[in-house]
Amino acid sequence: MKIILVRPQPSPLTIGLQHLMIVEPLELEVLAALASPEDELLIVDMILEKQPLEYFLRDFRPELFCTTGYITHLPVMMDYCRKAKAALPNVKTVVGGVHVEKFPEDIDSPDVDFRVVRNATRAFPQLLDHLKYGAPFPAGVLRPGEAHRPQLLPPYDFYFPLPRRELTARYRHKYFYVFHDKVALMKTAFGCPYQCNFCFCRKITDDHYFARPLEDVLEELFSIREKEVYIVDDDFLLSPKRVAAFINMLKAHNIRKRYLVYGRADFIIRYPELIREFRAVGLRTVIVGLESFDDEELEHYNKHSSRDINERAMKVLNRYGVDCYAAVITAPNWDAGHFQRAGDKMLELGIKFVNLQPLTPLKGTGIEVPDEHLAIRHDDYARWDLAHVAIRPEKMSLREYYAQILHLYERIVFNPANMLSLAVRHPLRMQWKLAKGIRRVRQQYLKRIEEASSYAEDITHTSHTV
Ligand code: SF4
Repeated sequence: MKIILVRPQPSPLTIGLQHLMIVEPLELEVLAALASPEDELLIVDMILEKQPLEYFLRDFRPELFCTTGYITHLPVMMDYCRKAKAALPNVKTVVGGVHVEKFPEDIDSPDVDFRVVRNATRAFPQLLDHLKYGAPFPAGVLRPGEAHRPQLLPPYDFYFPLPRRELTARYRHKYFYVFHDKVALMKTAFGCPYQCNFCFCRKITDDHYFARPLEDVLEELFSIREKEVYIVDDDFLLSPKRVAAFINMLKAHNIRKRYLVYGRADFIIRYPELIREFRAVGLRTVIVGLESFDDEELEHYNKHSSRDINERAMKVLNRYGVDCYAAVITAPNWDAGHFQRAGDKMLELGIKFVNLQPLTPLKGTGIEVPDEHLAIRHDDYARWDLAHVAIRPEKMSLREYYAQILHLYERIVFNPANMLSLAVRHPLRMQWKLAKGIRRVRQQYLKRIEEASSYAEDITHTSHTV
């Protein structure tokens, strides 16, 4: 069977961080690993391709068209399936991804033949067998119009084959994550046992947590050619025992790579020795969800952390020369003073790179916001990107709020001490690439500032008339 696996290009309405990071489509490489040897496979990364989708459809003429993405990709995935059907009327289309798994009704269409809603690594090969040999239709896949009944789905199964990274060979030199150039992606665990109420990650697995055996992780690590490895577990720094075993494994096998991982501030202060040891075998950056420097806000987000923990974690990372890419939430009740104080604190703590995330009541998280307080329509999927302001600011206009976000970014990125520190530690080529990326993201924000008033009026009107 000829199978095309397509990574979608984000919509122009999405504030896309692809100017600062483009990573390999690991999920498609995993699906490809589940096909049979006689299947013919093509992975197309539409973020990097210059040709339109139709070119690949005409040229490869797939019998099966697969695409996966997040909530922001829904309109694009729908459009791709429509185009695939228009170009090749007999093609079957499959969509998947974390949003589709939880809310398949958002992409229910005659153009989408199959929606994968549970255990994709089990359901996908079963679907192939069904299409090829008439094997039973897999549980965990929905046909058009079929209702989602989570209670009838099979239990979670986190089977994970060795990804077919050779299928993205022609793109791999272009994958990067901020200062991590030519980066490979790895997933060693699924889910997160914490309960932060703004977080969709933990909801994807319905609060189940599963970690792959380290022998599996080692085998995969040996197969990765890149020096830079981005471990995309929701929280890699979770079990001190597992992190210590991972470090020992790297030492025992003399594996010399550089790692970017997610970790919580409380782990960092509880196990500074592990951070020091991990640094010695390649830990370069930790993405830390600091979220806030205010205890009341942290409590409100159910983060089980504190301002003091955040500050001490930054000291540990700075002490051992580990970079921190901080994630900070801006709340709808912030005024100019809040933005100013957050910036002061980040500079005081030596934060050089931050992702500012306006509090977003993403479908499926625990945050409930009345419709009239929303600044994005529910079905305007492309804008649910965790960068758009999703809840109407309480103390300033939408326009001013975006301007405050942009100003806060600029304070951190263009801070002379930060610029100097980055300049001496990273190659000129990466600095240039990042500078261009920052300029593109800045333009996106300026556009949002420009359209903020008319969009806000537009959605007010819509919510009154519906
Ligand atoms: S924010 Fe991080 S720690 Fe909290 S639930 Fe999500 S992944 Fe877990």
